[in-house]
Amino acid sequence: MFKLILAVLICVTPALAQKKVCFTIDDLPVVSYSISDSVFQRTLTNDLLNKLSEHQIPAIGFVNEFKLYTNDILNPFQVSLLKQWVDANLGLGNHTFSHLDYNNASLNTYGKEILKGELQTRKLLTARNKPLRYFRHPYLHAGDTKAKSDSLEQFLKAHQYIIAPVTIDNVDYLFALAYHRAYVKKDSVLMSRIGTDYLAYMEKMLHYYETLSVALFGRNIHHTLLLHANLLNAHYIGKLAEVYKHNGYAFISLGEALQDKAYETEITRFGKWGISWIDRWALSQGKGNDFFKGEPVVPDYISEMTK
Ligand SMILES: [Zn+2]
Repeated sequence: MFKLILAVLICVTPALAQKKVCFTIDDLPVVSYSISDSVFQRTLTNDLLNKLSEHQIPAIGFVNEFKLYTNDILNPFQVSLLKQWVDANLGLGNHTFSHLDYNNASLNTYGKEILKGELQTRKLLTARNKPLRYFRHPYLHAGDTKAKSDSLEQFLKAHQYIIAPVTIDNVDYLFALAYHRAYVKKDSVLMSRIGTDYLAYMEKMLHYYETLSVALFGRNIHHTLLLHANLLNAHYIGKLAEVYKHNGYAFISLGEALQDKAYETEITRFGKWGISWIDRWALSQGKGNDFFKGEPVVPDYISEMTK
């Protein structure tokens, strides 16, 4: 009997204990903060993709195709950066053509932006016999009323798109802007300090959303982490992967993450907010301020540097 119980435990426990996360990376091809230098952009992309490959992370990148054009003419260099993602066997999704904010646009305008934003991405994926499946809302603004949210959902469904939610939200972009400013000043000491503090912040953010997940679902769901294609992540995504590994995580694709039934949870409350889907589900279930307490904050010097 003991052996039987032991066998059952060995079979079942790892499956139960295994935490899973999908890394999703927005604003492709790169967030360059106006550094147009092609060597900089190529190196950034190489660094990001090499680390993802090293840690066997089946990430997905979300594209703003306006970045592929220079003076309305398609820029082959920018397309080649995007092609690197497809060549690395990673997924690509649509993030609207010009990173449009749905809070400030009608469905008609927004829909046109979605369709305009898929042309080159679809071409690259089709050449590899891969479908274009996922859509990520810029600023995570998905409709501030039920009517606006529903009409966008219908539009996306009609065009065979699946919404790519985020469960682990964060402000990597603030750390990245500070890091970029330190990089421009060639201040390697400050860059290293920002990198270290970024990893500590991201680990706290992970623990925060794990706590919310357990409070809401009684378990740690398959997570979707939001990141951006910037220099900070190009330098630190390997170390960030280590942080997740130390916390017991395996890396999965977006398709696998969305198989978690948690993503079917109904959203019944809407606002202008750009928040985690865990927050949306919690608000829809009537959770108040207390539920969200303890959210990690950004160090003061990062706020100062990014004012
Ligand atoms: Zn974005």
